Parts: sequence; structure tokens; C-alpha cells
Amino acid sequence: MKKNSVGIDVGGTYTKIGLVSPSGALIGSLQIPTEPSKGPAHFTRRVASIVKAWDFGSVGLGLAGGVDAKTGSLLFVPNLKGWTGFSFKNAFSKSLGVPVVVNNDANAAVWGGYVVALKKKPRATVVGLTLGTGVGGGLVIDGRLHQGASGSAGEIGHLTLELDGPLCHCGRRGCLEAYAGTYGILRSAKALMRRVPSPLTPKAVAEAALAGDRGALKVWDQVGTRLGQGLASVILVLNPDAVLLLGGVARAGRLVLDPIRRVFAAQPFREPFKTVVLSAPAERDWGVVGAARLSREKRG
Ligand SMILES: [Zn+2]
Repeated sequence: MKKNSVGIDVGGTYTKIGLVSPSGALIGSLQIPTEPSKGPAHFTRRVASIVKAWDFGSVGLGLAGGVDAKTGSLLFVPNLKGWTGFSFKNAFSKSLGVPVVVNNDANAAVWGGYVVALKKKPRATVVGLTLGTGVGGGLVIDGRLHQGASGSAGEIGHLTLELDGPLCHCGRRGCLEAYAGTYGILRSAKALMRRVPSPLTPKAVAEAALAGDRGALKVWDQVGTRLGQGLASVILVLNPDAVLLLGGVARAGRLVLDPIRRVFAAQPFREPFKTVVLSAPAERDWGVVGAARLSREKRG
């Protein structure tokens, strides 16, 4: 039996494609522009022509949006307009002749982090966040990816923190993402920093904070506090073993972890916050690894 799997992490701008070993190691990977305007059939043909020379037994896709896991198609999606309803599962299994499993990209990434970084503790319950332009979420409950009745569970980034807060990309106000997504961080930086770095990126704001810039320190304190508030609500509901923070913004390290810990320490219901482990593993292509792993587990 072929042992490796292909993982494909499809974002609104770029798509990462990788060959993943059974243990979850990334053997090789590349990035291509997604080119949403050319449509999903064109995209599928392009990806298939790249991977068909590889040796693998299954394909996993992570798509940025709501996913119908049964048909392997997108239900709603802000960044891939016109891509809903197309069955990636059918198209890829037809052209590549292997089983194909389709998931939401954040769910796939959290599964990748759970399997590889946390070594898949048996029966563990894990809350995962992917921190990037948006804030994605995923839930592992009793060792299984929890996808919910219609496949949309784990949208932690859209928990409402303030009813009249800043506008979120989803169209509502005051979501966790509106504070902790890249655009929320940059908006805070413009409001709080005296000298705004150019170009303005989360990395530049983190460097300014580490160099002692007061405004930048306030930005990260706010981001971490908001993440802590959002996570605290989920922790009260699920009493997880661990919280997994993935993605570029997680690289801000203690700038973002310290305020989260402070929010946890101030909670009146102490027990679930005493036991929960906060983990921010080194950045990897978790979406690629997780999508590949999910396809491998499905094929048995
Ligand atoms: Zn939202």
C-alpha cells in the first residue's frame, strides 16, 4: 500500500501543496497562486497536473470556508467567489484515482497540530486557533475532530466579544477575529502606535514591541487579552486538556501568550484554567499536514 498522502491547503490567494509521510513529516511542498477568478475546475486540473507524478495513496484538501464534507464542496466562502457547489472530492478522485477527503482549512490545521505537535494524546480534548488574516478554529473532542451537524463547528474566531465592537470580515461586529485577525492587529497599531512601522505588518509590530515601543506593547496586550477572553468562553464550555495556537501571529510568542495567561488566571471558575496547557508550536504548514493526515485516516 502506498503510504504517503498529499495535503492541499487552499487559501484565497495562495495554495500550498505537500507530500506528507505517515508520521506527519512534510517530505516536499510548494506554493502556487490560487487564481480564484479562473474557477475551481481550472484549479483542480492545475493541482492534479502537479501532484500526479508523486507517489501517494490519498489526497486531503483544506478549503477556506464552510465545507460539506460528504460532497467535498464549499457551502459559503468569502474569498473564493463562484467556487461554491463544485465537488472537489469528485473532481480530484476522478483525475487522481485515490480517495479524497475535504475539510475546512482551520479544522485541518488544528488536526495537523494535534497529531504532530501534541502527539495525539489519547482521548484528549483540544481547542485550536489558527491566527492569520482571519482567526480560524477547530475542536478535537475525545481524540476526534468535531465537525458538528453541518460541518461548521469550531468557528471560535467569530465569537462575539463586544456587540458594538469593530467590524469583522464576516459582516458582524466585535468578533474575536476583528481584534486578533491580522486586520484587527493592524487597525489597533494605527490607533495606538505613535510611529507606525512601514510596511505595517504584525511582524513589524512585534519587533517594535520587543524593542520597547509602548504603543506596540499595548497592541499585543490587547490582542492577547481578546484571545484570552474568547478562549476563556470556550474553555468554560469544553474544559479542554490543551489550547493550540497556530499560524503566523502565534510567533509573537510571549507578547501574546502572557496576556492570555493573565486572563486565564483572573477567571473565577478556576479549575479548567489550572489544568489547561497553552501550546504554540513552531510554525509549519499545519493545514497541509492535517489535510493529508485526515485523508490517510479515512482510508484506513
Ligand atoms: Zn466575524
